[in-house]
Parts: sequence; C-alpha cells; structure tokens
Amino acid sequence: MIIEPFQYFSPQSLDEAFEILSEHHGEAKIIAGGQSLIPLMKMGVEVPCIVDIKKIPGLKAIELSKDGLGNVSSIKVGALVTYNDIEGSNPVKKNLPLLAKTASGIGHPLIRNRGTIGGSLSHCDPAADLCATALALNARICITGPGLKTRSISADEFFKGPLETDLQDDEILTAVEFPVSAMKMGYDVQKLTLGHGDFPVFIVSVSLHNDGKKFTDIAIALGGVGETAVRAGECESLLNGRESITDEDILEVSKMITEKYDPPSSAELSHDYTLDMLAVYTRKALINAVQMVTG
Ligand SMILES: Cc1cc2nc3c(=O)[nH]c(=O)nc-3n(C[C@H](O)[C@H](O)[C@H](O)COP(=O)(O)OP(=O)(O)OC[C@H]3O[C@@H](n4cnc5c(N)ncnc54)[C@H](O)[C@@H]3O)c2cc1C
Repeated sequence: MIIEPFQYFSPQSLDEAFEILSEHHGEAKIIAGGQSLIPLMKMGVEVPCIVDIKKIPGLKAIELSKDGLGNVSSIKVGALVTYNDIEGSNPVKKNLPLLAKTASGIGHPLIRNRGTIGGSLSHCDPAADLCATALALNARICITGPGLKTRSISADEFFKGPLETDLQDDEILTAVEFPVSAMKMGYDVQKLTLGHGDFPVFIVSVSLHNDGKKFTDIAIALGGVGETAVRAGECESLLNGRESITDEDILEVSKMITEKYDPPSSAELSHDYTLDMLAVYTRKALINAVQMVTG
C-alpha cells in the first residue's frame, strides 16, 4: 500500500522536538528505526506528521554509573541505541549479558542494524524480545516531556497493553536504565518462532542471582502470552530464596507457567503444541540460568 503524504521534521534538539510535538498535538509520531512505524503506515495507519529524533544529540549513548567501590551499578542505554550497538557494546556484554544476548537474536541483520531499544519498548508489541528482557532485568524507562521535565518508571508500569504504553503524545522515551548487580548472575532467553529471524510467537527471558548461599532476584519474564510482556511473579516466588534449585523444581515451575499463561495458537501452530513448547522453553531457560551460577 502507498503511504499517505505526511509532514517530516528532523529536530536538532529535544526542545525543538517538543515544540513540533506541541504544534502537531495528537497527529505527530516519533520515528526512530522506522522498523515498526513504516510497516504500520504501509498497512494504512495514517500518520500526518513524523518527528525524526535521530539528529538529537545524546540519545545514542551507553552510560555507566558506578558505586562507591568503583563497581558498575547501572547502565543507561540511550533510546536510539540499536540492537547491533547493544550486542557489540563491551560494557553491556560484561554487565548485562542477557540484554546483549536478547538483542543479538532479534529478527534479521537489517532489523538489528536499524531497530532501536526506545522504538521497541515504545512500540510495545506483546511478543517483542526486548520488552520481555526489560522486565526480566528490572529496567526503568526514562521519559522526557515538555519543558525538559523528566520522569522514570519501571518497565512493568510502562507497558499498558498491545502497542500501548504510559507515554503521553508529547513525551519522548530518552533512555532505558538497567540496574547491575555485583552478585553472580545466571540468565537465558528462549523463544519460539515460525522461522529463523521471525517475530517470536512467545519468548521466555530469565535472570537470577546467587549470593553464594541462596538464589535471589529470580525473574521469569514472558512475552507473547498476553496483552503485554509479563513477569511470572508467583512462579518466581517458588524459586526465590532457595539454597538449591533442582530439575524437579524447574519442572514444577514450567508446568505452573502453562497453567497460568496462554500463548496464542495459529494456523501453523496448535494450542497444545504452543503450550508444550512454552513449558519446554521455560525449562530450558531456567536450567541454563541455574547452571551458569552453579556449574
Ligand atoms: C521484518 C521485521 C522483523 C522483525 N522482527 C522482530 C523480532 O524478531 N523481534 C522484535 O522484538 N522485533 C522485531 N521487529 C520489530 C523491530 O524490533 C522494530 O525495530 C521495533 O519494534 C521498533 O523499533 P524502531 O526503532 O524501528 O521504532 P519505530 O518503528 O521508529 O517506532 C515504533 C513506535 O515507537 C515510537 N517511538 C520510537 N522511538 C520512540 C521514542 N524514543 N520515544 C517515544 N516513542 C518512540 C514510534 O512513534 C512508533 O509508534 C521486526 C520488524 C520487522 C519489520
């Protein structure tokens, strides 16, 4: 389908972007990588005004914060950082390997070259890879609004529904901040796709820590099983605080996941098959994560 005509703006600063958003209130859309917005427009969604944020300085940075002992305590990833940039960043690979692994598995090389973290989270597809991993890593979403007023909310509060977030029309997601723990970490991400590089049917993103005595901060985030990516809180609490996690514990958790969550069936995949695969991939992700801290 041919895209309807639209006005195009390329602001050089956040201030200028907010002026444009205010002048075209409700009609303007931010564009970052364009990998979701352009396909939507090609499908007939009318966007009268596009605000391209790529020339705004400061949105491509990956910034590290350190604690008093010099250890990295958090990493702020700018909204325009692409999946390729994430995958290739040494500080991310070292401190947030789950984020690097997730980014490296998104779509095809072209998508990874252009797609941005800010675009993926703002687009809020329920099965998007980074939405699940943002939840698993307790990410906070940094948002700037008119007058350069900033706020930050948890990914959990940010995701509201399919393609719906807490962002207002006149706000821009500027960065995503991830806490970094000094504890030993285990992680994995597993997803079911119809073919190599396809959008996930569902995704399981797991992160956990071990303080030398017990397992803590168990995070099991699921995408594609509901209206937004979710944390499987009750299943996490079965494992949190345990001194050891056995294969039987993991089997119990993966069964519980399939009782509580329901990935969609399709012409290609039956409901029973998808549910069985959800159990299999949850189990695989947990086994791999636990082995990382115990093996
Ligand atoms: C063929 C194909 C395969 C794909 N496969 C996958 C996959 O396997 N896994 C996956 O997770 N994704 C996949 N995607 C989607 C891809 O990850 C997109 O890049 C992502 O959804 C959007 O990021 P973007 O930077 O391209 O955003 P855009 O397309 O530029 O924007 C998407 C939406 O977010 C808004 N937005 C963007 N940036 C901001 C910001 N900073 N502040 C406020 N609003 C903003 C826009 O207004 C728009 O509504 C695929 C896309 C295609 C075309």
